Parts: sequence; C-alpha cells; structure tokens
Amino acid sequence: MHMQLFVYGSGTGLNRHPLVESGFESYHTAMDERRAPLLLHCCCGPCSTASIERLRELGYEPVLFYGNSNIHPQQEAERRYEALRQVAGHFNLSIVRHPWDHAAWLEAVAGHELDKERGARCALCFQWNLQEAAEEAIRLGIDSFTTTLTVSPHKDSPLIFSIGKHHPGFVAVDFKKKGGYQRSILLSKELELYRQDYCGCEFSQRGLAKQEQADGHDSHTT
Ligand code: SF4
Repeated sequence: MHMQLFVYGSGTGLNRHPLVESGFESYHTAMDERRAPLLLHCCCGPCSTASIERLRELGYEPVLFYGNSNIHPQQEAERRYEALRQVAGHFNLSIVRHPWDHAAWLEAVAGHELDKERGARCALCFQWNLQEAAEEAIRLGIDSFTTTLTVSPHKDSPLIFSIGKHHPGFVAVDFKKKGGYQRSILLSKELELYRQDYCGCEFSQRGLAKQEQADGHDSHTT
C-alpha cells in the first residue's frame, strides 16, 4: 500500500501529459478495484477528509485532484496542497495536480471582484474548478467526478449541482449532510491538518479582514 503522487505541466488536452498517462496505469494497480474510480476535486485537506469517507461508503474510490487557481496567494495554495498530501497519505490515495494559474482565474471572474461572497463571482469560481475537474476526468478516462466544495455550510450546494450537471459524469453529493462538516473538523484535528480561515481568493481574504474588524473572531470558512 503506498501513495501515488503526480504533478505535471500546464495546459489541457488529451495528448499533452505522457507522465500522467503512465501514472494513470500505476494508480490502477494501487486502487481498491472493488470500488468505482471517481475524480474528486479537493478544495483543501480538511474538506477532503469526510468527503473521501463518504465516497467510499457510496462505492467510489477517489483519485484526488488539486487545481484551485482561485486560491491566493500562491503560498496559501501550496499550504493547502501540503494538507491534502497528508490526507492522501492517510487514505492511501493518488493526487493529480494542475499548475496554479491565478492570472487566468482572475480573468474568468473579471468584473465581479467586488461581489459579495456567495454571489456571481463564486458561481464563476465553481464553474472554473468543476470544468477543470471534468476535463481532467475525461483526460484520465475516469467516468465520474465530483467536488469537496459541498462540505462547507458556507457553500450553496444546489448552485454547485446546477453547474456540475452540465458536465458528463458529475456525481451530486452534498457532503455537508449526515454530519459531514462536523466529521471533517474532527478528522482534521486528528490528522493535525492546516485549516484556513478564509475561502480562497484575495477578495474573500479582504472580506474576512473586514468581518474580523467588525466582530473580532475568525473561522475556517471553506
Ligand atoms: S470567495 Fe471562495 S468561492 Fe467565492 S470566488 Fe473567492 S475563492 Fe471562489
């Protein structure tokens, strides 16, 4: 039993990542073949914990996927990725990682910088991450994919589902249900994972700073 880890270059397209093609064969040998493979977009380590458990209960074996160009600054994206590596090690799962391209993400949400959290910018952000995961699942030949984003009580699961359903193979699971969010907190503490206190982009960071000034507390928000 061992963790497989694959990090590869920029861009998308079926023929551009031979390293992952060989990695894909390897991860098949490491997977529990009693379960169906599913690509799991992971927003961070903590949210992935309970999602992985739930997916295994549902008969899936996740391959973890980390793109998350919405996260700012890059150091924060790296920190969350390191937490995901801990999770992958704990559950003996593979990670596929895309390069961090925050400039492209900023272009995708241009004009919505001042939107409040849970507004149109967040819908575009979900669309970005779901599309990236959907394309990666196709590229790897994995029939199903989903996202950990629904763990958070701050995220609108019906909105995420309405975006996901436009992609073939999307599996709608509301991970916050059945105590999923509470379970993610418990497992994060057990594994001593880094837990962030803002959603991800610089706009959510500014929103947190304002809120902290107003009421003097902080919290894990994704
Ligand atoms: S607040 Fe979170 S979901 Fe919304 S745009 Fe920023 S990173 Fe994305």
